[in-house]
Amino acid sequence: PLKRKLLTDTLPESHVSGASDSGVKVIVRMRPPVKEDEEAETIVEKITGDSLSINGQTFTFDSHDIFQLVGAPLVENCLAGFNSSVFAYGQTGSGKTYTIWGPANALFEEKLSSDQQGLTPRVFQRLFDRIIEEQIKHADKQLKYQCRCSFLEIYNEQITDLLDPNQRNLQIREDVKSGVYVENLTEEYVNSMKDVTKLLLKGLSNRRTGATSMNAESSRSHSVFTCVVESRCKSVADGVSSFKTSRINFVDLAGSERQKLTCAAGERLKEAGNINRSLSQLGNLINILAEVSQTGKQRHIPYRDSKLTFLLQESLGGNAKLAMVCAISPAQSTLRFAQRAKAIKNKAVVNEV
Ligand code: ADP
Repeated sequence: PLKRKLLTDTLPESHVSGASDSGVKVIVRMRPPVKEDEEAETIVEKITGDSLSINGQTFTFDSHDIFQLVGAPLVENCLAGFNSSVFAYGQTGSGKTYTIWGPANALFEEKLSSDQQGLTPRVFQRLFDRIIEEQIKHADKQLKYQCRCSFLEIYNEQITDLLDPNQRNLQIREDVKSGVYVENLTEEYVNSMKDVTKLLLKGLSNRRTGATSMNAESSRSHSVFTCVVESRCKSVADGVSSFKTSRINFVDLAGSERQKLTCAAGERLKEAGNINRSLSQLGNLINILAEVSQTGKQRHIPYRDSKLTFLLQESLGGNAKLAMVCAISPAQSTLRFAQRAKAIKNKAVVNEV
């Protein structure tokens, strides 16, 4: 079987590593071909071992890299007190869900090899291991961690609590004490992989539909799993206490296929408009953030233009770390997108295919 391929691009280059800089990583991930792809005219010329050629260009990447490139730095950033978000962007069927959560129906099966697991389970495994390491290392400071998670869906600009789907049309609020938050959203404490698994499975089963056909409602909604990590420590030597908080957002975006506006009426028309708008607003916002981080010039950042960007406001600007995994299938149209994504150098905007 073909291994997964990763084509990486990093924007801007000097802003990638380390926990104290800000920047956006863009990673293009191509899933293996499936039967339906045979119908499409492809432009992959050759796939050998761990490399593939597209229009004479060869890309060679290791299939384990996605965790090393995105997951491991996410955990370190989080423990250092930075907010991070990872977005999966791509057309329906390109592998967004697989990348963020893992293979459907086998999300946390222990027999899965690490490269078959989704990013979220691997990040939590690493997070819990690192927390124990930190506690041992700083035993003298009585370091204590608390992690709490929430899971929501944004569909047609309305927020539903995936851990309690009776809670619909939740509102985003902002105040000085709590920052930006979703009113009445369920938050649950997690201490182990078992706790995280339970929440993820519950939330995923509450999405609008599990299927990923182009028309399934799940492909037209964004789902956001958030973990808030709080740490407290007290130095035995001087008795000084400190408190740190940071969050990681895992975002499975709505399918980026052009939502048909023609022949749509009423609710469908509104829905198509909302999806196109929220994805392009996210792209614009990332573009502005990349520009600000490069030039240092202040600009108005239009966070409030969509529910998604308003919600993630504190994880999108300032010192926050962003990673965008662009999932592609080997079909021609999406490979054109891959080439375009590869050409992104200084702008982190991802345009419509
Ligand atoms: P999306 O969320 O973008 O609609 P999915 O993640 O559901 O797409 O992927 C579509 C299909 O392709 C699923 O059957 C999934 O298991 C399979 N798939 C996606 N990515 C990979 C991969 N990297 N390796 C193997 N199978 C994959």
